[in-house]
Amino acid sequence: MKNIAILGSTGSVGTQALEVIRANPDLYNVTVLSAHSNADLLIAQALEFKPELVVITSDAKYAEVKEMLAGHGIAVHAGEEALSMAAAYENVDLVLTAIVGSVGLRPTIAAIRARKSIALANKETLVVAGELITRLAAEYGVEILPVDSEHSAIYQCLVGEKIDSIEKIYITASGGPFRGKDRNDLLKVTKEQALKHPNWVMGAKITIDSASLMNKGLEVIEARWLFNLRLDQIDVIVHPQSVIHSLVQFNDGSIKAQLGVPDMKLPIHYAMAYPDRIETQFPRFNFMDYPELTFYKPDMETFRNLGLAYTALEKGGNMPCIINAANEIVVDAFLHDQIGFLEMSDVIAQCMSDLEFIQQPDLNNYLETDRHTRIFARELVSKKHLAI
Ligand code: NDP
Ligand code: MG
Repeated sequence: MKNIAILGSTGSVGTQALEVIRANPDLYNVTVLSAHSNADLLIAQALEFKPELVVITSDAKYAEVKEMLAGHGIAVHAGEEALSMAAAYENVDLVLTAIVGSVGLRPTIAAIRARKSIALANKETLVVAGELITRLAAEYGVEILPVDSEHSAIYQCLVGEKIDSIEKIYITASGGPFRGKDRNDLLKVTKEQALKHPNWVMGAKITIDSASLMNKGLEVIEARWLFNLRLDQIDVIVHPQSVIHSLVQFNDGSIKAQLGVPDMKLPIHYAMAYPDRIETQFPRFNFMDYPELTFYKPDMETFRNLGLAYTALEKGGNMPCIINAANEIVVDAFLHDQIGFLEMSDVIAQCMSDLEFIQQPDLNNYLETDRHTRIFARELVSKKHLAI
């Protein structure tokens, strides 16, 4: 029986993880749940799964959650600080980090320091501070198991292989809802159009990231740290069917790929069950549903974010932290109709060129960079908003 903490249990990954747990009550036991503001769902989950501890990060919802869970023997805490406490909670073997954004950084560090295994969905943490996180994980002997489908695929391809026999990896990208469009087509696209992902149903932020190719950029950075690769070993290939989740090419020229129906429950369950594989009733892959698998080069001129992410990775230091924070602000602004789709990359690029570069950041530098970038990006957004 594995005791599991789910940080972000009310989100897309969090709810799918709970589906997996619901189907395997003999294997997994939920001891911690967290949400930001969706008190109703958090309460319902707590009453069903009976964790020992629940965290609601939005203080405004604390009283409601506390009242509804009173008498059930569940401790309730509020605020961001409580997330780190929850990540290090004694009765937890595996922490699933399924919250969105750089707010995942501190709880992930707390989990590592408490020597918890980590199933990492919260890719922003590795983007912001990949060097720090992987160094700490090595120091504390903690395994970081990727939940992101591409990284889970690469991880699975690497089982039984030596890391130094990797020549390169290919991260597949669906291309999102705007694949094949040019900059002119994208000038006036709406959030409703951007939120329609062809293959995956996910949270709003990652869905916009997928439409703008920033998600692939973040995944390139995530892969660099998870698998300790050089920049020139990481390629992105557009594969609209999202059936091949990613590939590894070895130094003898052989390529391994991992395939499956596009369903996040598979990589979530792989990370939760690791090192075992557990039999599931998930729908099986049917080759006849996919008579053609196609591949294209990503269009980096239309979708500038992918190139910006490669640049940030090449620069290193706090640059990926800058790109991530700027992106969180512009995605939120786009979702609130404050800037246009293409303007998101303009703001990110300006943050990258104007903000202070730190070659060897420590944790405090990352937190400060995150804070400054958000303020600066918000100013840039409000200037653009006024110009609309
Ligand atoms: P969602 O937006 O669906 O869920 C986010 C979760 O985080 C919710 O539980 C939310 O709580 C909580 N949350 C939001 N803001 C905060 C905050 N400031 N502090 C603490 N908790 C917060 O996101 P997804 O599930 O789509 O994504 C989660 C992570 O997994 C992201 O990093 C994403 O990139 C990654 N990922 C997601 C995939 C997917 O298929 N969805 C695939 C691969 C990676 P509340 O509901 O109360 O707002
Ligand atoms: Mg992914």
